[in-house]
Order: sequence, then structure tokens, then C-alpha cells
Amino acid sequence: MELLKKTATEQHKALINKEVSALELTKASIERIEKLDEKLGAFNSTTFDEAIETAKRVDEKIAKNEQIPFLAGIPTALKDNMNMTGSKTTCSSKILENFVSPYDATITTKLKENLVPILGKANLDEFAMGSSNENSAFKIVRNPYNLNKVPGGSSGGSAASVSASEVTLSLGSDTGGSIRLPASFCGITGFKPTYGRVSRYGLVAFASSLDQIGPFGRSIEDVTHLYEAIAGYDVKDSTSLNLEVGNISANLKKDIKGLKVGVIKELMAEGVADDVKESIENAIKTYEKLGAEIKEISLPLLKHSIGVYYIVATAEASSNLARFDGVRYGYRAQNCENLLDMYCKTRAEGFGPEVKRRIMLGTYALSSGYYDAYYKKAQQLRRLIANDFNKAFESVDILVSPTCPTTAFDLNSKANNPLEMYLTDIATISSNLVGAPALSMPCGFDKDNMPIGLQIIAKNLDEMTLLQSAYALEQELGVYNQRPNI
Ligand code: GLN
Repeated sequence: MELLKKTATEQHKALINKEVSALELTKASIERIEKLDEKLGAFNSTTFDEAIETAKRVDEKIAKNEQIPFLAGIPTALKDNMNMTGSKTTCSSKILENFVSPYDATITTKLKENLVPILGKANLDEFAMGSSNENSAFKIVRNPYNLNKVPGGSSGGSAASVSASEVTLSLGSDTGGSIRLPASFCGITGFKPTYGRVSRYGLVAFASSLDQIGPFGRSIEDVTHLYEAIAGYDVKDSTSLNLEVGNISANLKKDIKGLKVGVIKELMAEGVADDVKESIENAIKTYEKLGAEIKEISLPLLKHSIGVYYIVATAEASSNLARFDGVRYGYRAQNCENLLDMYCKTRAEGFGPEVKRRIMLGTYALSSGYYDAYYKKAQQLRRLIANDFNKAFESVDILVSPTCPTTAFDLNSKANNPLEMYLTDIATISSNLVGAPALSMPCGFDKDNMPIGLQIIAKNLDEMTLLQSAYALEQELGVYNQRPNI
């Protein structure tokens, strides 16, 4: 069905104009998943029956000429680290392979209230640790633009499923770029809101001071609507912000004349592929054409962000993942001699190599004698990086850079070199460290027709300026209408 490749905004119009029913749209999505996903690997599990029930409820409302929420009837997927009652939440890990959620995450509750058909749970790197989706314990995800390339990670399934038009929207989580990197590699838009905007209740924790849920979609308008549906204060998450989200979707189409755009100098320097650089420069020129003022901004401490992240994130992960011990839920090793043996065997057999590497690194960083040298230093640097950003935002409204210095790389090309894999996150990680809202939107293609992503960052809580400035650029560039030939 052609409509499946359109934006949520176009699908919503077709639904309320009765050109198509929600049931037809959901069934088309199911058919496409059944046809494509064997080669794509984007879904760990599907929840088609619930999706059909939801679609029928949407059609009943439309038949009665009742108003429906904007996202009602739009096929959507959840990353498989988000809980939904009765569905498996595996985090792509053997340790949770058979875990069935007994409750809904807050984002799930909100999507249900909006009558969003949830088609299934999208594949990811195990516990969201990775940049290529090759760390899933079950299967890899392939890039819809080239099946021999990675989709990016860790929300690889969420991004690939939208890019390949299996679903129209999806949710991902971004701890150190995991929404923006796969959005960039798969040619769609991915948005990480300010830390605390979206409740983390029911999201399996990786690094709690960095984790943030956000939307994937085919346009800025689409991700704005999905963001508004899931954002807002939640008493069940102590870090959730009790602040107005604002009506961004009604104010997207704003003239951006006079907008101050800062180009991050360090992220346009050596190491950035030529065609990526060209495409970003073209986006900057387009901003200029739209009346924005362009300025170069230096963030000298940015080069330390990966080092800081791999101390902070692993320290938090080592603590968060302590709960997976075979006692209350999840995988439990057999033939154990005693309790300690059961803990050790369960974790040795249940976790994959990258997760073990993170737990060991984090435990080491927190151990007495090393805490001051590593964890405390990292926290101090985190503060200094935030100071750099605050200073930059005194003179500009948004910062721009490539989302990644390269386009999607070949499968297996970095899987055995963790350090090289970590470096793919150089442009994205700092926004998590400082909590800032940031997105990746498609801005062009490289010589092999692989998508290139532009990253835009705004100051904390300024999602309004971020999305308005992205919308204006998107309309002028027109790249968001491209779809892979799959
Ligand atoms: N690639 C980063 C990591 O492996 C980011 C992951 C994420 O944002 N969840 O930790």
C-alpha cells in the first residue's frame, strides 16, 4: 500500500477523510512486516492482535464522526527495552529472552490512550549497548538502504522498521546517541528530547542519568506529534520534569529569519568523510538562504566526551544490571552448587560480551581506590562540558554538526574493535552528558546512495526552537521524502 510510505501526517488525513480505514492501514503494515522482516531483522516480537483491536476502535470512532487523536491508527513500534503488558521485553538479551512484561511503561500507557496500534517490539543492541545493532543476542538488523550495511545502534530495529515502511513511527531510547545515529544511517528523523521530558518509567535502565526516550519518524511534524504524545511529568519517574511541554506542533511553521546557527568546529574537522561534510555545508548554506546567521563555535572539551561517557555510563550500567541475577525473573542457570554459583553462572551465560565488558569497566571505575581517579574526574569533566555548551548557547540558538562523521558502515567491519565502534558516537554523546535536546534529520546522500544525517542541538528545554528550525530546513531541503528501494 502506497500510503504506508507516507508520513503520519498524511496517513492521519487519509483516515479522517475516510480514504482508508485504520484496520486497512494496520493490516498493510502487518503484511509488510511479514514480507520484509525475515531479511531486515527489525522485530524481536510482534503484537499484531492488539494492534488490530486498537485499529478497530479507531474505526468505530471515525464511523461515529468522533474526533480522533492525531496518532490514532498510525502503525507504530516500540524498542524492545520498553514494557508493554503481556508482551516480551527482552532487551535483545538471553537473560530476558522469555521475560513477559507485567505492566505498561508510561509511554505505552500514553500511546494506548492515543489509540496507537503497536505492532511489536523492535530489535536493539543488547541492553542498548552498541552503535550497529550487531550486539543483539538474537539477530542482526540490516540497513534498508543496503542490506550489507548496519542500521546503526542501539535502536537499530526502531529506525530500520520506519525507514523500510514496516511501520510509520517508532520509539527508541538514547543514552549516547542511540536514536540519532540509527536515524542518520537509515535516512529518517530521530529526536532525543531534553533529559527528563519523557518518563523513563517502564524503560529498562541502562545509564539512568543519560537515558531518554524519543521518537522516530519520516518528518519533523511526525516526530513532534509523537513527542507531544509521550512527553510530560510523571510521578513514577523521580527525574521527570514537572514543566509545560508547550504546543510545538501548532507552532512549527515559524519564519527562522535571524536564527543564530552555530557550526561545531571540532565536528567539521578531520575524520569527517568528504561527502558528509559537503552535505552538511549545503544544509548550512540553506540556513543562510532562509535568513539565519551562521557562526563557528568551538567546543574544546568535546573530544573528552567519549571518555567521560564510558566511565559514567558503564558505572551506572554496572549498578543497574545488578538486578539480573536469576533470582526474581529472567534466565536462571541450571545445575548450580550454591547461591553464589547460581549468580555467577546465570550472569556468565545470560549476558553477551559487550554487556560484560561494560559491567567490568563500570565496576572497576566505581571500586575504592579508583573512584576518585575515574568516576569523580568524569563527573567533573561532565560539568565542564556542560559549561562549554552553556557558553555556546549565549551566542547561538542552535548548534549543528554531522550526526556521525561517516555514513552506515559494512556489517562486521567494526564488530571486533570496540574502541572504533565507540568512536562513531563522537558527535552525539555530549548532548546526553549535558541533557540537551538534539535530533538527526536526513540532509542528503553519499556517493553510494547511503543517507547522511544532520544533527541539530538546542539548549535544555528549548525543543520549540529545535523543532521549528529543523522544520524550516526540512521543507527547503526536501530530502525527507526519499525512501529506500526495498
Ligand atoms: N553507542 C553508545 C553505547 O554503546 C550509545 C548507546 C545508547 O545510546 N543507548 O553505549
